[in-house]
Amino acid sequence: MISQWNGQFSCFDLVARTGNQLRSVIPVRDIEIGGGDFVVMAGPCAVESERQLLQTAEAVADAGARILRGGAYKPRSSPYSFQGLGVEGLKILRKARAATGLAIVTEVMCKEDVKVIAEYADIMQVGTRSMQNYELLEALGRCGRPVLLKRGMTATLEEFLRSAQVIAMNGNLQIILCERGIRTFETATRYTLDIAAVPVVKMVSHLPVIVDPSHAAGVRCLVPALSRAAVAVGADGLLVEVHPTPDQALSDGEQSLTFGEFREMMDDLQPYLALRDRTRRTRPRLVAVGGAD
Ligand code: PEP
Ligand code: MN
Repeated sequence: MISQWNGQFSCFDLVARTGNQLRSVIPVRDIEIGGGDFVVMAGPCAVESERQLLQTAEAVADAGARILRGGAYKPRSSPYSFQGLGVEGLKILRKARAATGLAIVTEVMCKEDVKVIAEYADIMQVGTRSMQNYELLEALGRCGRPVLLKRGMTATLEEFLRSAQVIAMNGNLQIILCERGIRTFETATRYTLDIAAVPVVKMVSHLPVIVDPSHAAGVRCLVPALSRAAVAVGADGLLVEVHPTPDQALSDGEQSLTFGEFREMMDDLQPYLALRDRTRRTRPRLVAVGGAD
C-alpha cells in the first residue's frame, strides 16, 4: 500500500507508512534512532586533525551527544576549499570512537568510496549535493550500514523519498532522513529550514527523521532556536556542527557552536524534551486530514 500526502504525492512503497505499521527503529551500536530517544549527532564539519577531533568528541559526549559527526571527504562549494583528509580522517574518527564510545557518522560522496568508508563508519552520510546520485544510492543499498540521507537543497519531499526508495530497493532499509534546509528566495539564513517537512515525512513514511539546524541556519546564533523547533515538531534527533575554535575552522566555522554553546543548548533542550515526552503519554494524537494511512 502507498501513503498519500494531501492529494499531491505518494510515498514509495518500501519507505511508506501504512496502516498499523510500526515506525522503523535503526540500531547503531547501542543506540536506537527512531525509537523514542532524541539522538544528537555532533562534531566538526570536517575532521581537521587528531587533536581537534578528539577534543570535540570528548566535549560533545560529555554534553550528551551519542554520535560523532565529521567529514573526511568533503563536498565543497568551491574547488579551492579544504577537501578533507580522506582515509587519514577516517582513522582519526575510529580513534575518537575508541576513546569515547561515540558512534561515527561521516559522508560518502561517490560509489567508489563506499567500501572503504563502510569499514570505518557506523552511519554513512549522503550530503545534500549527492541526494540524486543514484549510483551512490544503489551502492549504499548494498553496503550493510545504516544511511543518513540528507534532503537535496532543491529537492521536493517526493524526490527525497524517491532517493530513500532507491536505497531500500537495493536491500537496505536502515535509512535515517535528514532535513537540512532548502533554497528559497530568503537570504537572511544560509538555507530555509523546512520545519514542516518533519511531520509531513513522518506521516507518510515509517523512517526516522532528524534535523540539521547548522547548515539550515548558516549562523551559530540560530542553531539553538531551530533545535528547539526540531524537538517540538517530533524530530528523532539532530545533526549539529561543533568546533573547538570555530573562528579557525577550515569549513563552516560561522555555523559551528563552541563547546560551551553546545553544552548550553543541550541543557536548554531538556525541558522541551520532557514536555514532549509528557504530551506523548497523555494526549490523544491529532489525525491529519488528507494525510497518510
Ligand atoms: C555537512 O554535513 O557537513 C554537509 C556538507 O552537509 P550538507 O550536505 O547538508 O551541505
Ligand atoms: Mn558542514
